[in-house]
Amino acid sequence: MNKIGVIGAGTMGNGIAHVSALSGLEVVLVDINAEFLDKSLAVISKNMDRQVQKEKISADEKDLAIGLISTSTEMDALADCQIVVEAATENPKIKASIFKELDEICNSDCILATNTSSISITEIASNTNRPEKVIGMHFMNPVPVMKLIEVIRGHLTSDETASVVQELSAKMNKIAVECNDYPGFVANRILMPMINEAIFCLMEGVAEAQAIDDIMKLGMAHPMGPLTLADLIGLDVCLAILEVLHRELGDSKYRPCPLLKKMVAAGILGRKTGHGFYNYK
Ligand code: NAD
Repeated sequence: MNKIGVIGAGTMGNGIAHVSALSGLEVVLVDINAEFLDKSLAVISKNMDRQVQKEKISADEKDLAIGLISTSTEMDALADCQIVVEAATENPKIKASIFKELDEICNSDCILATNTSSISITEIASNTNRPEKVIGMHFMNPVPVMKLIEVIRGHLTSDETASVVQELSAKMNKIAVECNDYPGFVANRILMPMINEAIFCLMEGVAEAQAIDDIMKLGMAHPMGPLTLADLIGLDVCLAILEVLHRELGDSKYRPCPLLKKMVAAGILGRKTGHGFYNYK
């Protein structure tokens, strides 16, 4: 494998393009918004500079990797990729239309992966004529730092596709752990109810944001508190995942906290907007 496509130049798409290029793959990064693509290249370069400073990579490795990344606002640019990882907005309709288009554009042997946090892989695959080549590759945020890729097999994903994705993950210096296709898979099925409960605690005045985070950090040895983590993930992304868990599993324990809904409606989305449970400006 030598050429990968990445769709979506947001938080996750940036990171996936970053680790792909550092593993020596040619990368085509696609977004509907040209401004986001420019911003994304600047972010990738800045993040790689940080790795150079920490002596994790050399300046030459950075230059080589940056040279491997091209950008486009046209899906056609993905035509000769061997794998495409979709990391667009967490919205089932957007993902369905992207996969329909990818199925038409990409070679028949191209693997179509999605970085969705919670949407059914089997359902996404049903928009294509190659469900055996559709798989979940759920990278963790921040992608250059986090070791895990949660690999999710859809109902019809083939062993061959899963094994190519295992190899690719190793090439990216990541550890792939497989699970099956149920709402939220494993990571978010467990993580999001915890984040949601932390927001309920804040809304009900059980404690201030900093106290909630400190209790979970110091008491449970978590590297960061749930509200800090929610700001890092993006509050809109958290809400979208909780809505999928609530709708698909039909259990009221997954109902999104009203405070989370209100913050998202107000455009307070966490780090990416400079304001979430904490102020980043
Ligand atoms: P984001 O909002 O930062 O970025 C999404 C990008 O997709 C935007 O740049 C947007 O312009 C682009 N986009 C939207 N529609 C598109 C289309 N039709 N074609 C091309 N580009 C399109 O979102 P994100 O946080 O990077 O999340 C992306 C995906 O990764 C989601 O499925 C999310 O659930 C998943 N994910 C997010 C995290 C996280 O911590 N943020 C972690 C794991 C997985």
